Amino acid sequence: MDNFEGQSILNFIKELPNDEACKAYLAKIKWSGGFTCSKCGHDKGCEKSGYRYHCYKCNHVESATANTLFHKVKFGLQKAFCVVFEMSTSSKSVSSIQMGKRFEIRQGTAWFFMQKVRKAMKSSQKYPLSKLVHVDEFTVGGKEEGKQGRSYDSKKKKAVIAVELSDKNQIKRVYVKAIDDYSAKSLTPIFEAHISKTAKVITDKWRGYEPLKKEYDIEQKLSNNGKNFKELHIVIMQLKSWLRAIPTHVTKWHIQAYFDEFCFRINRSQFKNSIFHKTIERMVIAKPIYQENIKQILSV
Ligand SMILES: [Zn+2]
Repeated sequence: MDNFEGQSILNFIKELPNDEACKAYLAKIKWSGGFTCSKCGHDKGCEKSGYRYHCYKCNHVESATANTLFHKVKFGLQKAFCVVFEMSTSSKSVSSIQMGKRFEIRQGTAWFFMQKVRKAMKSSQKYPLSKLVHVDEFTVGGKEEGKQGRSYDSKKKKAVIAVELSDKNQIKRVYVKAIDDYSAKSLTPIFEAHISKTAKVITDKWRGYEPLKKEYDIEQKLSNNGKNFKELHIVIMQLKSWLRAIPTHVTKWHIQAYFDEFCFRINRSQFKNSIFHKTIERMVIAKPIYQENIKQILSV
């Protein structure tokens, strides 16, 4: 079975027509580099029926979904694949209510599974922005007021965005981080996670960026009502309209998951043909989230 390519829902159904086919797809990714037993680490075993592997050393039999984000998916792998297909290929955001109706899954179940997909979409932080980077802060949720500037309305969620531009000022890549306030301490993590020290960074005149000048090449420009940061504000507008389908009265952790999903998709808009496979691959490699651990995850 080849990697699925493209955005055609008809091809998708043809190539992955049932739970068995999806399980085979997962098994192929999971054991592409050979078998390693998750219980004892031994690497000799044999394939068994039902896309399982039998460890010769400890006799553990491992399924294709074990230790992946598809672990214990009760509504069937094909539906799970459909949710991933929708989330990775459609250009509009889909709420868990819509997703639940479309694939006959309870809304809460759909929401939980979609959080797993978002987890897989989180940046690896391996490829920091390294050329021309614009950085600014913005808010989402709450009431929109016409004026520019830093909002201190507590109902709004604050965020900082970094956009890498090409020589022709085209948007190359985007990262967004939820923040508690606009202090230098809160602005630092997006630099550490996503911006190379060799990058040329442009921010507005906000003093919170000043301490970062010690380590990063930062030029501060007047925003001029956003005119000096045109491309960046286009992305913020896209992000806000994309979030509109999603309730934003949520915790910082949740909003970060939506930001991660948005960035994953925008950063791969040139690679739409492989985005579904890439997402599945990340879900196989990722560690599973168990329902019991959700509280712990939410408090991060
Ligand atoms: Zn073993």
